Amino acid sequence: MTKRIVLASNNPGKVREINQILAGLKLTVVPQSDFGVVEAEETGLTFVENALLKARNAARHTGLATIADDSGIEVDALHGAPGIYSARYAGAGAGDKANLEKLLGDLKGVTEGERTARFVCLMVYLRHEFDPTPIICQGIWEGRVLDAPRGIGGFGYDPVFYVPSHNCSSAELPPELKNDLSHRGQALRALVIALKTGHL
Ligand code: IMP
Repeated sequence: MTKRIVLASNNPGKVREINQILAGLKLTVVPQSDFGVVEAEETGLTFVENALLKARNAARHTGLATIADDSGIEVDALHGAPGIYSARYAGAGAGDKANLEKLLGDLKGVTEGERTARFVCLMVYLRHEFDPTPIICQGIWEGRVLDAPRGIGGFGYDPVFYVPSHNCSSAELPPELKNDLSHRGQALRALVIALKTGHL
């Protein structure tokens, strides 16, 4: 029998991507919106805390096992900012463009060598609301922040994230290649291995 897992995100792209990677396991991921789950407030101070808050909220409302992720970009010259605040860096409700422009503004005058940064993704799996041993997987993708946007693919900070291994921005990578390299792809593949070998 196929086991249903709720994804604590309303992003259809994430549901598709996760189902593709989970193909072959007897699991189907359904978005929390199918159950009318209201998004959890992200009050944690770390990616892992926020991912657990989202997963626990969805588990409480659905009674099912849940997956949640929390991600963002950490910039060394900004002492790790925007970090967990990546989606709201230019203020609550700010869009990708405003966040990216704020980041470029904050790094004005910072030399290329000092613009090191990384995308981080925390992916968690909770068997139920009170699961005391969640599965926790992390992916990290190293790069640096460009001084102007490049490329039209991806979302968020992709146009300003330089990928040294491919000498382009992450917005210039084909989607499958971005999934191979990215923080989210890494975390998700680690989670798949844990789900295959652990108890669900
Ligand atoms: P969330 O994990 O969907 O809440 O994303 C947090 C924020 O981090 C997004 O709004 C983006 O600004 C940024 N972010 C996370 N992953 C990526 C990525 O793969 N590319 C570009 N920006 C990202």
